[in-house]
Amino acid sequence: MSPVILRTLDELRTLVAEWKAAGQSVGVVPTMGALHQGHLSLARAAKEGCDRVIVTIFINPKQFNSPEDYENYPRTEEDDARKLAPLDVDVVYVPGPEEIYPDGFSTTVSVAGLTETLCGAHRPGHFDGVATVVTKLFTQSQADRAYFGEKDFQQLQVVTRLARDLDLPIEVVGCPTIREEDGLAMSSRNLLLSDRARVWAPELHGAMEEVAEGLGQGESFEALKAKAIARIERAGFAEVEYLDLRAADTLEELAAPDRPARLLAAAWLAGVRLIDNIAVD
Ligand code: AMP
Repeated sequence: MSPVILRTLDELRTLVAEWKAAGQSVGVVPTMGALHQGHLSLARAAKEGCDRVIVTIFINPKQFNSPEDYENYPRTEEDDARKLAPLDVDVVYVPGPEEIYPDGFSTTVSVAGLTETLCGAHRPGHFDGVATVVTKLFTQSQADRAYFGEKDFQQLQVVTRLARDLDLPIEVVGCPTIREEDGLAMSSRNLLLSDRARVWAPELHGAMEEVAEGLGQGESFEALKAKAIARIERAGFAEVEYLDLRAADTLEELAAPDRPARLLAAAWLAGVRLIDNIAVD
């Protein structure tokens, strides 16, 4: 059944109040649209874990670093609703900017520490934008559970931290990264890649897998990192912003995977910024 599309907070509140009165649990899946199988996997997880599911689509201006990036972000609302129809999602919430940032809006939610490295170091203000909109979407939806992808691993840690710090009555659930057959992590931004760049893009993940394998065999991270950056740049990437080994929980830098670790990378390919991360056992 096609989901109901709601555009105002009033409508959303009324419906969620009915669900809550009936004792039903509510899951929310925040997205910026241009939905792919990664997003749909979150919606499926939400359907399994909750009686009612809201998918939100809001392209949040506060988390972009340039007006061009915001303008160029793919907008595919009709397609998105069509993709959600078979999943039995209850509501697609597509708020206008005034529902999220009404006139005079002056609050920023800022998570210290975790947001200062990796993507946070390269995208000033990005995580403040994410934390602020996520807090709004949590309080607007009054959901019991929220589903986020490990694809944006740092974001998942930031959102988990903020929900804990602010005692928000919501459980943050992380879900695995969904990939194309060639290993490229699915992302709405992949739509912005030229045909040629799309062929090169999986090298990022390929090089990261090589690092993880080398670490498993006891090789030094520094040497593996240099080799991986050379491979990624040879594949046509313009710049590797970071390729780091981090503690999976605190994101602090590691020289070797002596506890649960994550390899995280961001790199530019033909004007598109791609990010990826994998677990290192
Ligand atoms: P976005 O629309 O890019 O803001 O992403 C919305 C949600 O979908 C976030 O929780 C992302 O981490 C998640 N997501 C994006 N790509 C993937 C993927 N390939 N696999 C799993 N989750 C994803």
